[in-house]
Amino acid sequence: MGDCLFCKIAASQIPAKVVYSDEELVAFDDISPQAPMHVLIIPVEHVSGVGSLSSAHDALVGRAMRLAARLAAERGFGESGYRIVINSGPDAGQSVQHLHVHVMAGRAFEWPAG
Ligand code: AMP
Ligand code: ZN
Repeated sequence: MGDCLFCKIAASQIPAKVVYSDEELVAFDDISPQAPMHVLIIPVEHVSGVGSLSSAHDALVGRAMRLAARLAAERGFGESGYRIVINSGPDAGQSVQHLHVHVMAGRAFEWPAG
């Protein structure tokens, strides 16, 4: 956890365009957006990925999902749609080992995902 990029963002030790924060969750714009809206939602607590979640995190994950929907709706994408993605492990392309939820909107997404 010591040198974790997203822990540092959660602690305001490195800058990010934070769009929401509370005691448990922080949301900020992705530094390399892949869609007109590309926000990352992270827990303040260091959790390395979905595989490290326990039942103690159930409410936190629920709140993160509802925050994703709310942020997309607030930006006008509630009806047109958005994509919520959590990458887990190397085959999925997880590059930061701190759980993060991608919320992307503003263009049409292909399915199945690449
Ligand atoms: P993933 O590939 O699922 O692990 O996603 C990591 C995401 O973090 C990528 O979309 C990156 O563009 C994003 N990212 C990396 N460094 C930063 C940073 N300093 N601020 C905001 N987003 C970042
Ligand atoms: Zn971390």
